[in-house]
Amino acid sequence: MATKKILTKKSLDFFEKYLNNAAPTGYEWEGQKLWMDYLKPYVDTFITDTYGTAVGVINPDAKFKVVIEGHSDEISWYVNYITDNGLLYVIRNGGSDHQIAPSKWVNIHTKNGMVKGVFGWPAIHTRDKGKETPPKLDNIFIDIGAKDKEEVEKMGVHVGCVITYPDEFQILNGDKFVCRAIDNRAGGFMVAEVARLLHENKKKLPFGLYITNAVQEEIGLRGAEMITQTIKPNVAIITDVCHDTTTPMIDKKTQGHTEIGAGPVISYAPAVQNKLRERILETAEANKIPFQRMAASRATGTDTDAFAYSNGGVASALISLPLRYMHTTVEMVHKDDVENVIRLIYETLLNIKDGETFSYFD
Ligand SMILES: [Zn+2]
Repeated sequence: MATKKILTKKSLDFFEKYLNNAAPTGYEWEGQKLWMDYLKPYVDTFITDTYGTAVGVINPDAKFKVVIEGHSDEISWYVNYITDNGLLYVIRNGGSDHQIAPSKWVNIHTKNGMVKGVFGWPAIHTRDKGKETPPKLDNIFIDIGAKDKEEVEKMGVHVGCVITYPDEFQILNGDKFVCRAIDNRAGGFMVAEVARLLHENKKKLPFGLYITNAVQEEIGLRGAEMITQTIKPNVAIITDVCHDTTTPMIDKKTQGHTEIGAGPVISYAPAVQNKLRERILETAEANKIPFQRMAASRATGTDTDAFAYSNGGVASALISLPLRYMHTTVEMVHKDDVENVIRLIYETLLNIKDGETFSYFD
């Protein structure tokens, strides 16, 4: 299993389709439907909740419950203010990056479908070279080709419409996946691949497995906070992205050293249950899966925190996929890392026994 390739043509086709579909925070359901369609042959049943979190369940009657989780939402913008001459000012829905906005195409989601627009920017000729103004939330604006506010409204665009980038999946140099929203479409994809492998390799787990695709992570782990109360799991293994810190202008002394192509990144943080993390590390070593380490002070900033600090404490751990250029439209990951995260979650599940408490006192 350690050397066998995991991703198939079919799984990559799904990943591409799943990435190319927009699923802004709060509006995840079309993406969830694609994900559930793909996952369906590999699970016994589904749970969905009011805000759109989706969970594929294997062994739904088992008392002991293990979650593997990624998040389904992507960062976006909201239309916040429309000027009399028909330009749109925005606020963030998640950690959208004002610095990359100028000159980007956008899709504005309306009741009648997508309206195209562009983030405009003053021409280099017209700017004061002595004091360049960087893009900020209060000076970036969208032009949808409308002459005034009335025309904007006629186009179906109003305050509260969400805005995403149209950038689609590409492969660079054969093994780098590039797209917007790989944070954290990759997570949902990887946990679904774990379910596929369990099914194809006819592995029977002694516990209930809850393959979870949570909503609303980007605005504060909200989907995970909701679904952990519904599932009430005993164990949660979370996967999200983390930074490749080897590209320019990132300080390794504060950000640590993690990079794409060097394997899954295992987190050390108070929310990470030590015995569960050690089980993951032992599994990586036993199966010759490369890995890297990362430390977080206080919170991990991922859904790990939401699962860990729920239901009286849930043994939780975080396996991250290293990624370049987070929250830009050209997020980049290494194919080998995607496969190794899948492999590590899969092998770890095979190493968890029914009823394990991971107690420090046994
Ligand atoms: Zn993010």
